[in-house]
Amino acid sequence: MGPQEVDITGYNPIVELAKETGTPLHRWKGNTLLVDSDGNLVSSDEANEALKQVWDILEKAITHSTNHSEEIPSSASLYNFFRDWCDRTLQSGEMTEREVELVLGMSQMWGAYVGDRVERQSLKFFYLEDCIEGDDCFIPTSYEKIMAKVSAIPLEKARIQLNTVMTSIEVRTSGALQICVTTSDGKVQYFDDVVVTTPLGWLKQHKKSIPQMHPRVVSAIDAMSYGRLEKILIEFPTAFWECVTAGSGTGPNEPVSFVHWLSPSYAAQTNPQRWRLECVSFHAFAEPYRRNILLFYTFGDCSTHITTSVRGLHGEPRDRWLQQFFEPYYTRLPNYDANTCAPLRFLATEWCNDEFAGNGGYTNFRVGMADAAQDVQAIRHGMPEQHIYFAGEHTAPFDGLGTVAGAYNSGEKVARRIIESGPPAEAMSDNSAEGSEAVAC
Ligand SMILES: Cc1cc2nc3c(=O)[nH]c(=O)nc-3n(C[C@H](O)[C@H](O)[C@H](O)COP(=O)(O)OP(=O)(O)OC[C@H]3O[C@@H](n4cnc5c(N)ncnc54)[C@H](O)[C@@H]3O)c2cc1C
Repeated sequence: MGPQEVDITGYNPIVELAKETGTPLHRWKGNTLLVDSDGNLVSSDEANEALKQVWDILEKAITHSTNHSEEIPSSASLYNFFRDWCDRTLQSGEMTEREVELVLGMSQMWGAYVGDRVERQSLKFFYLEDCIEGDDCFIPTSYEKIMAKVSAIPLEKARIQLNTVMTSIEVRTSGALQICVTTSDGKVQYFDDVVVTTPLGWLKQHKKSIPQMHPRVVSAIDAMSYGRLEKILIEFPTAFWECVTAGSGTGPNEPVSFVHWLSPSYAAQTNPQRWRLECVSFHAFAEPYRRNILLFYTFGDCSTHITTSVRGLHGEPRDRWLQQFFEPYYTRLPNYDANTCAPLRFLATEWCNDEFAGNGGYTNFRVGMADAAQDVQAIRHGMPEQHIYFAGEHTAPFDGLGTVAGAYNSGEKVARRIIESGPPAEAMSDNSAEGSEAVAC
């Protein structure tokens, strides 16, 4: 219910693990359906052209951010870049007003990559989202086999305490240097080194749980922003959207991969803020993974609205709410017939309601940040002098921030640092220290 996209451009440990474990990888073909603000299907040629334009502009924006980050004001957003680009091309006659409208509308799709609106994406630090230049695959199953593989050694060799909440981490300097970890069951345990892998969103709300946290790490945690991304899966009796219709231009040999609904004017009751929607189609997968499922991604305030509304709802009332919210969108796809196409099931994540997910998705870089790269480096550096380190997507190499591969890499890097740092001198002289080892919590 979390990650499924993997970047296959360069070395990616998750791709290697997928290959080793026989986990399938799907390559999207890019065929897009686009529904305009009035609820009408845009022609396939126009839709695919608008999508291509958006990716071209995103690449130009990343080049601009990489080369001019120093001069770009921290108030500039990625949307400003889109606007300026469209204004220029409109004036020069390279784009029509209709094309500009579609491209600016589609620029909002960036939100599904970072969990917040394109207007809030910092242009200055857009280069930290470097992963967009890559080539993505999608895992059409789950991470089950990958999890089994990576957890095999820890399950065999480590002492793992599941369902145990870390509440504080303190450095005890009297006598042997020890890191004292307290858990919610009141248990106190001592370690040589501690790697804190709780999400950035959790750290933001619990900075006091590490009282000796370095002030630079505190300011980095405060400054970095945390996106809100949710997934909603809707299963239908048939993939009715695949049928050929006049104007849609899609055919059975070319399955639909993506659907975008521009900011809707037609769902005033359920979506007065006019949040735009998008989904991917599981019917694009090869057999045996092909399903009649649309996976919607929501971000920012739309995610908060959904997770707040379904919180505590189960069964029929929950499905009813989700049906009412999403109905205006899937009913506008080609060939929808209420008698034969009504949804069978709904499944919705609630990361925003989950304190252990940090009440959100993953790190992003919002407008206003002044020192984003140094902020990441400060958390990544951690407090080695106190034997407290951080790992997770928020400490990943710049090209892996916000991803599973980045989180995985960050864990390996921090493990190597701890091994290379050797055992703490003080602790070595006192072998009586209980639980003389490293822990990740
Ligand atoms: C909807 C969604 C879609 C995504 N899609 C993709 C994608 O397609 N591709 C991709 O690469 N990435 C994707 N991501 C991002 C990816 O899931 C994260 O980058 C990755 O899971 C981060 O790993 P992590 O180890 O840093 O943190 P997490 O996976 O969040 O792990 C943190 C762990 O810490 C535990 N924890 C928290 N607090 C405590 C505590 N006090 N005591 C003990 N344990 C605690 C939590 O229970 C959790 O198990 C997506 C994320 C979301 C939300």
